[in-house]
Amino acid sequence: MDLSSRVLAYMNYALAMLLALTVGLLVWHHYGMERVLELSDRTHAHVDVVDDRIMQGASVATLAHEGGAMRMRCQLSHKISWPDCKYMFFLSDTAAGIDLSQFDSVSLDLRFHGPGRPALRVMIMNFEPGISTINDWMSQKINEVSFDVPVDGVVTVPLRVFHTATWWTEMRKIPLAHTDMRMDNATRFEVMTDATAEAGQYVIDLRAVRFYGKWISQNHLLMILVGVWIAFAVTWPVLAAVQLRAQLGSSRKRLRLLGEINRALHLETRELAGQAHTDPLTGALNRQGLRAALMNTSSMLIEPMSVIFVDIDYFKRINDQHGHEVGDAVLRDFAIAVNAGIRSSDKLVRWGGEEFLIICPSTALEQARALAEKLRLALPDHQWPAGLHVTSSFGVAARFADEEIGAVIKRADSALYRAKANGRDRVEVALPDLLIEQCANPLVGVD
Ligand code: GH3
Ligand code: MG
Ligand code: MG
Repeated sequence: MDLSSRVLAYMNYALAMLLALTVGLLVWHHYGMERVLELSDRTHAHVDVVDDRIMQGASVATLAHEGGAMRMRCQLSHKISWPDCKYMFFLSDTAAGIDLSQFDSVSLDLRFHGPGRPALRVMIMNFEPGISTINDWMSQKINEVSFDVPVDGVVTVPLRVFHTATWWTEMRKIPLAHTDMRMDNATRFEVMTDATAEAGQYVIDLRAVRFYGKWISQNHLLMILVGVWIAFAVTWPVLAAVQLRAQLGSSRKRLRLLGEINRALHLETRELAGQAHTDPLTGALNRQGLRAALMNTSSMLIEPMSVIFVDIDYFKRINDQHGHEVGDAVLRDFAIAVNAGIRSSDKLVRWGGEEFLIICPSTALEQARALAEKLRLALPDHQWPAGLHVTSSFGVAARFADEEIGAVIKRADSALYRAKANGRDRVEVALPDLLIEQCANPLVGVD
């Protein structure tokens, strides 16, 4: 598998993963991914109770800690117009408060006991540069909400229902643009008796205050997911195009190789359909078989690669003296004898008549020459039909890097020609064309 199709396969995995991740994250976000901030005795939030005596009132609040819960006792007096007793959680002593805007709701685990309507008020102070100063608590934005409470239980208040106290915006003359509810820099959290509370004795137990939120807001999560999907959607066609180009390139290369091989083997492309790959008489590959082997078996061209051209000596004489059938039998035996002497990766090809090629992948010139010599010596020892003595001549050539296969065959053929000319029953090795030219014309390259 080439690089581009591997990349595309990875993209398929990535698609499946992304799909699973999207569903997983959305489900997880819906049911989990919870972030909790607890304000209680246990979390050591700095907590106190405050009454309205600081505002010249007469209410008296006291704080007691009872087994994990806080108990505020409040004697509420109507000496002033807006009396109150309250729990006060200090979230921060400095201008840098904590960011509560990432939370969705606050839940209060409490018990309420007192006269009149059971109602409470919760305030969140937010330090806002430009409006707030450190020394004046009242300069901090006051976000508040009032609600009725069950006598004993948990009240959950969505943070979005908090609103900036209008009495505060009026009193402080806050410009309209700054009256929005904000709790991204919260410094104080208060739970207090309601503005409409009757005078009397109140007991308000607070077991815990918990802010609930998600580690990542739904909007953020959706934005990230959409972003990833868009990136994926953009990458996909680009990779597909790259792969298509690579495929096109490799088929062009194959087509070129096919054309080259066909030319080398003197084959016409249109003649090839449906033709068998082996020679029926000898069982050796025919030219079509060699073409298929060269095209489809990548190991065939492994460097170094050599070609041996073999031609039976005086074969015509065998035909003439013993008849065509004996000639055929000699050809059959020749293929058997050669196949017995070569490796399975070597391929015997009947080039035509009594001429054969042996294609030897992973074989250097010297090894090929030794193989040819071994075959030459072994062939006469074969039990030939009619007690014949059969010899052969061999031309050996090695393929140079990227040399066309036709050129190698041609050089092996030339070497064979020399073997015949030099008396037959012998092995001749082909020299590169350049060297052959130089031998024929020793003055080439000499000034
Ligand atoms: P050299 O040593 O120079 O190779 O001489 P040669 O006689 O072997 O070569 P030549 O090319 O003169 O003769 C080859 C003969 O092979 C001629 C042809 O009739 C014969 N021949 C070709 N194909 C077959 C075949 O399939 N069966 C038989 N019996 N003979 C064949
Ligand atoms: Mg011959
Ligand atoms: Mg011949």
